[in-house]
Amino acid sequence: MNSTTPPTDPAKVLQAGYPTVDIANALKIVRPNLGNDAGVALFRLLRLVAIEDILGRGASAMAYYAGKKLGKELGIVKLEDFLGLCATLKIGIIEVPVLAKDKVHVDVYECVTCSGLQPVGRPLCHFEGGLIAGVVEHVTQRRTQAVEVTCIGGLGDRSCGFDLELQGELIK
Ligand SMILES: [Zn+2]
Repeated sequence: MNSTTPPTDPAKVLQAGYPTVDIANALKIVRPNLGNDAGVALFRLLRLVAIEDILGRGASAMAYYAGKKLGKELGIVKLEDFLGLCATLKIGIIEVPVLAKDKVHVDVYECVTCSGLQPVGRPLCHFEGGLIAGVVEHVTQRRTQAVEVTCIGGLGDRSCGFDLELQGELIK
């Protein structure tokens, strides 16, 4: 692209001249008295109350794509490393009861977003679904989509369950 061509990617247009925080910088945590952990409540208030209040229905798609982008950018190359990350970040207790060539099912117990909520009648964990899809896509190099089919706090299920469908290879 030559310098006179305006960027057409909406994300690049929005970010032009706007300093962003990358993953490595966000994870530089210096809190000598409070440490690395913050409460689940803070995350939920941001994810389920504040963002939904502003974006409404659009919050689900935003959370999914944010999770997916992050999942790809983490640079994870082995699924075991993702399970380790989930344990470190306390996203939930992860089980993978189906791991086939084209289909994967992931169950998240004690989900950070929703476990314990009074069911609201719709799935809530689009961020987690996107994150899982992004990681699987990066690991397998195949286009991956996740659909949340059960949800603890959204639908009253035992786990937040995600069906992942693996499609064609990513075009490089
Ligand atoms: Zn859920």
